[in-house]
Amino acid sequence: MSFKSLGLSDAIVKAVEEKGYTKPSVIQEKAIPEVLKGKDLLASAQTGTGKTAGFTLPILEILSKNTTKGKRPIRALILTPTRELAAQILENIKEYSINLNLTSTVIFGGVNQNPQKRALNAGIDILVATPGRLLDLVQQGVLSLSKVDILVLDEADRMLDMGFVRDIKKVIALLPSKRQNLLFSATFSREIKQLAGEFLTNPVLVEATPENTTVEKISQRVVRVDKVKKTPLIIKLIKDGDWSQVLVFTRTKHGANRLSEKMAKSGITSAAIHGNKTQGARTKALAGFKEGKIRVLVATDIAARGLDIPLLPHVVNYELPNIAEDYVHRIGRTGRAGANGEALSLVCVDENDYLRGIERLIKMKLDSSMIDGYEVDPTIKAEDPNPQRKNQRSGGGGRNVRGGNSRGGNSSNKPRSAASRSKSSFNSGGNTKPRRRD
Ligand code: AMP
Repeated sequence: MSFKSLGLSDAIVKAVEEKGYTKPSVIQEKAIPEVLKGKDLLASAQTGTGKTAGFTLPILEILSKNTTKGKRPIRALILTPTRELAAQILENIKEYSINLNLTSTVIFGGVNQNPQKRALNAGIDILVATPGRLLDLVQQGVLSLSKVDILVLDEADRMLDMGFVRDIKKVIALLPSKRQNLLFSATFSREIKQLAGEFLTNPVLVEATPENTTVEKISQRVVRVDKVKKTPLIIKLIKDGDWSQVLVFTRTKHGANRLSEKMAKSGITSAAIHGNKTQGARTKALAGFKEGKIRVLVATDIAARGLDIPLLPHVVNYELPNIAEDYVHRIGRTGRAGANGEALSLVCVDENDYLRGIERLIKMKLDSSMIDGYEVDPTIKAEDPNPQRKNQRSGGGGRNVRGGNSRGGNSSNKPRSAASRSKSSFNSGGNTKPRRRD
């Protein structure tokens, strides 16, 4: 299967080839022809599957066929949960549309509105936006959505998790009722299905990965270690292994800052990226990390969602996520587009319940070991790893893996290897049913 045979024009195929893509990914193969036919889409695909090109390329194809005279109205709107994801989607659109006469821009909060207003005034075919800033600018009369032909909700599950449901509905109310809708989500909770039911018309279902499997070629490893020894251990691993580009996840913003400072003190260049950082600081940190100036990027889940960091060799879970599905998203940062990668989780006794929840979700036991000199002290009792979250999310769709006090240790089951159990999201086939969680 080639990009051309999917129905894309030479101008787009050329741009894609210049990016180095030799063949479409699974989600691209399935989504592109349907979008070109004008169908609504309900797509199950995570970051790392090539989903962005899956919706962007056919949108470019459709829009490039019908150019308008005079000031360009916004004809395609792409809503995303985070600023970073929005910026990356625009970057991709610019690259894919290099040979086309189409204009695009991005708007998100946390930065000066004026440059965004100027860009919009010039007339834009494709707008990528986070919901809050979009509504703000609509209210100010800076832009109109009355000519939007195609709406994309990207990472819709995360948008709902972040409380954007009302904003999304407000945006949809501003769009023409006759339009094409594409919804991308990594999971299909009841809320997502409800949203899809409300605004998609006879959607085609496409799926890139079977539910919650983890990506092939990522070797996943658990190192058991006491909480107080996690920082010295991660510093030792990075130094001894001479790791040059490491993405580290913490559960809290405060934890990300603290760890990043400790890394810096020990001579490892590092930056933290989370929701309390200014947009400027986040962009700078990400750019420094991609360029290799920053060796360790410490991130929280929301900040990292959607980040496009190709060929990342090491992802470390300094703390396990309390939402098991976030583990799959985190480790999806490594081994992308077929590259090898290692995902390492530092697990203390407090996190046993989280680990069990993750293993249940990914349907495999993770290899677990200890490192000489950092052995677990068996007298340390488990505490709730996330006390401030108690009572939160209860009944909210069942995503939370409760933080508890049990001391379940390593399983006696023989661990199965990650590669033998899982499928590549990039190259493997998948079925056409959406994944279900509830
Ligand atoms: P996404 O899932 O959209 O975030 O894309 C993940 C990564 O895969 C990005 O770095 C893309 O540039 C890259 N990518 C997308 N499509 C292809 C393809 N067909 N072949 C190789 N790489 C791709």
